[in-house]
Amino acid sequence: MGSLGRPTGRHYVQFPELTMPSTSVPLDSKAASIPQSSGQLIVFTGPSAVGKGTLLRRLLERHPDIQLSISATTRQPRPGEEDGKHYYFVSRSEFEAMVQSGQLLEWAEFAGNCYGTPRQPLDAMVAHGHTVILEIELEGARQVRTTLPTAHQIFVLPPNMEALESRIRQRGQDSEDAIAKRLARAQIEIAAADEFDSHIINDDLDQAVADLERLIFGAQDASEEPEKP
Ligand code: 5GP
Repeated sequence: MGSLGRPTGRHYVQFPELTMPSTSVPLDSKAASIPQSSGQLIVFTGPSAVGKGTLLRRLLERHPDIQLSISATTRQPRPGEEDGKHYYFVSRSEFEAMVQSGQLLEWAEFAGNCYGTPRQPLDAMVAHGHTVILEIELEGARQVRTTLPTAHQIFVLPPNMEALESRIRQRGQDSEDAIAKRLARAQIEIAAADEFDSHIINDDLDQAVADLERLIFGAQDASEEPEKP
């Protein structure tokens, strides 16, 4: 965890597509609030630029019922990224307020920015029986392992480190400093891969998507036709 202080008050960031019941109060950030009998929660972790986004896009094209959790971040939007779609882009002080008021299921600092999972939308999606995927980094995955141990934790590996570095550079979106931070963090994350329930090697994209389907739906269902939109 980073250096955010203790709670000083109650603040809320509004999630536009959601209605917060008037009786709703912030939940204790250490307590699991998702009913165990409802939808499936998947934690999806892997080093920066390993291809998690591409894999998830392909998965969602084939299974549009699957929901992606939208994180809050203090990082600046990249070209093409939209607020409320790719992330909720918030200021550092807004993020701190979300942490302090218990709005985040988990959060972590990554390459100089904060990222966190808003708890309320996740609760709502799982309560409605959806399979929800949290695409988050290692520290966040560890927090979820403690608070929601029934979540299935999947780790995505690159075929090798050279492939990973070349993918980070090809993206052309980060400074040299940010690239160095992302590579250093990637080494740490890969070293922790054994903590996860399942692993996928993202070498061949089609194979990796098929592996992911098998992990989420089980061997039998994954071989069936994908759901129609
Ligand atoms: P990026 O800046 O490339 O979009 O994301 C950097 C890292 O932050 C990725 O490894 C991504 O999985 C992670 N990340 C995105 N959202 C969250 C979140 O809500 N919580 C945590 N812990 N990590 C996140």
